[in-house]
Amino acid sequence: MSSARTVDSRLEDKAIALDETRRRRLVSAIACSVIERADELTALDAAIGDGDHGANMKRGFEAVLQDLDALAAMSLPDLLKGVGMKLVTKVGGASGPLYGTLFLALGKELSDAPSRATAASGFGGAIAAVKARGKSDVGQKTMLDVLQPAFEAFAAGGDAARVREATLLAADGTIPMRATRGRASFLGERSVGHMDPGARSASLIICAVCDEFGGG
Ligand code: ADP
Ligand code: MG
Repeated sequence: MSSARTVDSRLEDKAIALDETRRRRLVSAIACSVIERADELTALDAAIGDGDHGANMKRGFEAVLQDLDALAAMSLPDLLKGVGMKLVTKVGGASGPLYGTLFLALGKELSDAPSRATAASGFGGAIAAVKARGKSDVGQKTMLDVLQPAFEAFAAGGDAARVREATLLAADGTIPMRATRGRASFLGERSVGHMDPGARSASLIICAVCDEFGGG
């Protein structure tokens, strides 16, 4: 079994520096992607939860957009922590603290100009923090069933297109799963046959990042 932090040692160790313009574009792309698909997230959550995931995530990322200027001016670690704090305080539900933890932990793990290898390792560490916060793991039909495969594709050296593909496949992969964590677990077998809303929102976030880095 490979641990969440296992990273392919062949990865090139080149620093990825994001200037203010790219930091702004990245945050804005993530936020807009989630906000634009709030109705879809709500519909997914209406099927196996309480129908608030779209509104929860929209509220959180709208708050992020309101602070976009200040966030983009920060170093990458501070920006990530700033986004995490917004999500913790604004999203609510089960997903708020979990996405908040993901971004806060990324802010602690990543330097201002991480290499690809340290970015992958930091992503793995942030996923471990989400698992600890949620007392959850892969295979339970949650956001982790997208985050972990995305990490694995990235850590194995996959480019943006490959990570994107793995991410979308992983979100689809939650459809036949039976939920054993979160609100959907109350449905037991009836949770089967629907995509997990948190898996979908995680795929939106990862795909927005992939699209932003797709050009190299
Ligand atoms: P709530 O379930 O409180 O209404 P949301 O609807 O905003 O919160 O978020 C639901 C999503 O949160 C689920 O689809 C699932 O992906 C994720 N989730 C819930 N509990 C956990 C957990 N313990 N670990 C990981 N993810 C979880
Ligand atoms: Mg909900």
